[in-house]
Amino acid sequence: AQERYASIRNKPAITTDGQRISLVMNAGLMADLPSLDGSGAEGVGLFRTELQFLVRNQMPKRSELVALYKRVLDAAHGKPVVFRTLDIGSDKVLPYMKPTDEPNPALGWRAIRVGLDKPGVMRMQLQALLRSAEGRPLSIMFPFVAQFEEYRAAKAEVDKTIERERILGHVLPAELEIGAMLETPSLAYAPQKFFDEVAFVSIGGNDLKQFFFAADRENERVRKRYDTLNVSFLSFIERIVERCAISGTPLSFCGEDAGRPVEAVCLAAMGIRTLSMRPASIGPVKSLLLRVDLGELRKIIADARHRGDQAVRPAVMQYLREL
Ligand code: PEP
Ligand code: MG
Repeated sequence: AQERYASIRNKPAITTDGQRISLVMNAGLMADLPSLDGSGAEGVGLFRTELQFLVRNQMPKRSELVALYKRVLDAAHGKPVVFRTLDIGSDKVLPYMKPTDEPNPALGWRAIRVGLDKPGVMRMQLQALLRSAEGRPLSIMFPFVAQFEEYRAAKAEVDKTIERERILGHVLPAELEIGAMLETPSLAYAPQKFFDEVAFVSIGGNDLKQFFFAADRENERVRKRYDTLNVSFLSFIERIVERCAISGTPLSFCGEDAGRPVEAVCLAAMGIRTLSMRPASIGPVKSLLLRVDLGELRKIIADARHRGDQAVRPAVMQYLREL
């Protein structure tokens, strides 16, 4: 498939009305790294660090993590990489951790909640990330932040870890950006101070959609019932774009929908300027972005929104057929 899109691999994704969209990739395994060059991705928008924890049968050592993250940064050759801290719980259970018996794991003790309640592993991972940078710029994001206070607490852990590293005489990253994943509707309504303080926000659309519609992402019966192009969801995305725009906070979208061409161009039309997706999706998404007029699409979407909550997709499909 990458051969098919070879001619546009090194082309920037610019729409016919001149809007530049950054296309970055999702990764998590060493095997994903060669795709950075092959796909034309401008960087890694989401590195899911839990995969390295899930493929083992014991907790990795800090030194192993340092070596691993270093390899990721080496392979990126200066392209930006966003490391997401351990996102466990819910559907991702570590075989060597005590299982928690929760009636509703998706709403349970997961991701940053585990990191804040039991900070040992999070501190170890933060140290490993800071060391792996060896003075290069570093971006870290926390998953599943539901309220400002959690971001603040996690950021305080980072600051403490930096201080410790400094005392130990380790080289610190040249620049350090700490971001948050917006995966619960609550964070979209956080105090403006959150958007002022956070370095960047990334919408985890897979989780955000499941909580927005209260429809389990793992449950086939309900998963497909609610469309990403549903008027309510698109309005919500637009609201997040507006909130980030007030403080100039960089915003990206890293759920599976970013890699679906029709959904991707609609997200771009709502104002998303960075899309992070599996490497194989970059070609198809770019190919469509190069042909659309986002201003036109935005008008079509705005118009369809008055007609019914499912009216956007047919209107957009009609526009795309006529291109
Ligand atoms: C998401 O929720 O959209 C996301 C990118 O994270 P994950 O799929 O790993 O939960
Ligand atoms: Mg998620």
